[in-house]
Formats: sequence, structure tokens, C-alpha cells
Amino acid sequence: MDSFIYTSLPARVVFGVGTTASLPQEVHALGITKALVLATPQQVSEAQALADLLGDAAAGIFAEAEMHTPVDVTERALAAFAALGADGIVSIGGGSTVGLGKAIALRTDAPQVVLPTSYAGSEMTPLLGQTEGGKKTTLRSLKVLPETVIYDVNYTLTLPPRMTVTSGMNAIAHAVETLYAQEANPVLSLMAEDGIAKMTRALDRVLVAPSDIAARSDALYGAWLCAVCLGAGGVALHHKLCHVLGGSFNLPHAETHTIILPHALAYNAPEIPQAMAAMRRATGAEKPAKALFRIAQSAGVPTALKDLGMPQDGIARAVEITLENPYFNPRAFERDALLQLLENAWHGNEPD
Ligand code: NAD
Repeated sequence: MDSFIYTSLPARVVFGVGTTASLPQEVHALGITKALVLATPQQVSEAQALADLLGDAAAGIFAEAEMHTPVDVTERALAAFAALGADGIVSIGGGSTVGLGKAIALRTDAPQVVLPTSYAGSEMTPLLGQTEGGKKTTLRSLKVLPETVIYDVNYTLTLPPRMTVTSGMNAIAHAVETLYAQEANPVLSLMAEDGIAKMTRALDRVLVAPSDIAARSDALYGAWLCAVCLGAGGVALHHKLCHVLGGSFNLPHAETHTIILPHALAYNAPEIPQAMAAMRRATGAEKPAKALFRIAQSAGVPTALKDLGMPQDGIARAVEITLENPYFNPRAFERDALLQLLENAWHGNEPD
């Protein structure tokens, strides 16, 4: 056994179907007497149902969460938090709502209970990305890590098919890079492999039957494992490219992950034999990069950066930005090969 470092992050996880019923006990266990319930405008009715369930333990609802955690939204939420006398946070939704809860926790130390409804995985990470004046900054702090996460499979039944796939691929990407990141270790590799296996196999089933509880359970369980990987593991080329494309070309988060992942994996494949063996076991495919590409293709979600509005002449700029401040990666960042990678991703060519 090679030497390694493994850090587990503190979080309580309640997983199952109908687990939302445990919310009042979980809120009470954290000492919260008045919870501010957070959501996006699209999920205000779910937030209202949680406030009703909490009764006197609900301070109110703030349903203005937005993508990329804009600081002005956080400031409005903080004002509501103070005005309503809240002492804790309940976040219901995807990464955008979870991000708002984390931003409040950063500034108030308030405990958080999160009910995730997508597969993005932010609930298991000490990471927070915030935007102000058009600029995104990311921080890592245990202050933002939610104390309790209630995974209720029922919420994911309404996840639209397109978002199911892109959010699922976003989750898979976290686990894939965990297998070969600088921080790779045997414990996280176990979680990563099972997370990828559960999610890839569940996506096929969920697309055929979106309300299949067993398949949705596997997908959410896989998403949790992948989220642990993102929180405790490391990232590499794939995440670097997605950060550059998201930050410099304003491309959508989960869709960009979905397009880049097969190409980033194919780029690294020659240098990561152990990770590729894990990927073959997880996907059941001899060519895992192709298998990931085909999941997106068969679901009809974008497989080409041009379909997200990325200009073709942005490819060279994206590579230069990537090379300016490279992340650790098992294969060196090679200009020509990266240009080819992004060219393939721009056209939507199937990787090898
Ligand atoms: P999202 O939270 O922006 O959700 C997109 C839309 O789908 C919203 O309108 C939301 O209300 C709706 N939605 C969510 N779940 C639904 C459901 N089950 N049924 C119907 N509608 C639903 O999208 P996301 O992909 O979950 O999160 C993306 C954001 O999360 C990005 O800003 C990304 O940067 C961030 N993120 C952060 C981390 C981290 O560790 N900090 C990790 C992953 C993602």
C-alpha cells in the first residue's frame, strides 16, 4: 500500500425516501429555533412546505437564490435573516440555493440543514464560489460546510430529464478526477468508483422512467458519493477547463462539465492506468470516455461547446488562460493537445 493522506469532513447524512419528515428533529438537534428556509423562485412551493412542516421553528422564507451566489442576493438574504430573528438555515434546492446558505453561514456561523434536489453536490463541500461585479471568487472554509444533509429521493423525481443528465455528469466529473488527482487516496477511490457506477447505470434507467424510485435512489446515492469526492478530494485538468470556460465565456456549469468530461478523460487516459481500470469497472465499458460521451448523446443534451454559444476563436484564448495557471494533472498540459481537445469538444466529436 502506498502512503496517502485522507481527511474526512464532518457532516451528518440522512438518506432515503420520504426523509424530509425528519427535518424538525434534525433542525432541533442543531439547536436551531428559527430557521430561514432558502430556495430559488422556482422552488418556493417546496420551501413553503418545509416552513409549514417546521411550524414555529420556521422564521420565514427567502426564495431569491440565484446561480453563482451573487453577493447582492446574499446581502438581501442576510437582512431577512436578521429581521426575522433567524438562527439557522434550511436550504432546499440545487447548487445555487446551497451556495446562498453557505454564504450566509460564512458571515453568521449559522448552522445549515440542506435538502438537495439536484446532483451538483455542493452540500458536501467546504467550497463556496461567489460573484461580485461580474467577478467570481472561490473560497474553502469549514464554516460553509453544512452540518446536516437530508437526501430525500422524492425531490429528485421532478428533476427534468435534461438537468438529470447534466447534473449527473457534473457529479460523475467530481469522482472521475478524484481517481487521479494529486490528493488521490484508496478510501476516496472506493467512493469514486461506486459513485460513478451508481450514477452512470442509474442515468440510463432514469431516462426511461423518471419516477423510478429505485433508479432515482441509486442516482442520488451516487451523487452523494461523488459529492464527498469533491469535498475531500482533488481536481485536475477537467475542472480547470470548466472553470476557464465558465469564468471567461460564461458557459453554463453542468452542461460544460457534461461536454468536457469525456475529452478530459481521454486526454489523461494514457497516464492513468489504475484510474482507467476503475472507470472500466464502474461503467462496464472498455472505452469509458466513449461511454460517458454516449450517455450525453443518447439523452439529447449538448455534446458540443458550439451549442452552448462558445465562439470557435475562443478556443485558443481558453488554452492560453488554462496554461497561465495550470492545476496538477497526471499528464502535462500540452498546448497542441489541449487545442485539439477543445477543438474536439467544440465540434462535439466523439473522443476515443
Ligand atoms: P441550480 O441550483 O442553479 O438549479 C437550476 C434550476 O433547477 C433552479 O431553478 C432550481 O430551482 C431548479 N431545480 C433544482 N432541483 C430541481 C428539481 N428536483 N426539480 C425541479 N427543478 C429543480 O443548479 P445546480 O446544477 O444544482 O447547481 C449549480 C450551481 O452550483 C453552480 O453555481 C455551481 O457553481 C454550484 N456548485 C457549487 C459546488 C460547491 O462545492 N461549491 C459544487 C457543485 C456546484
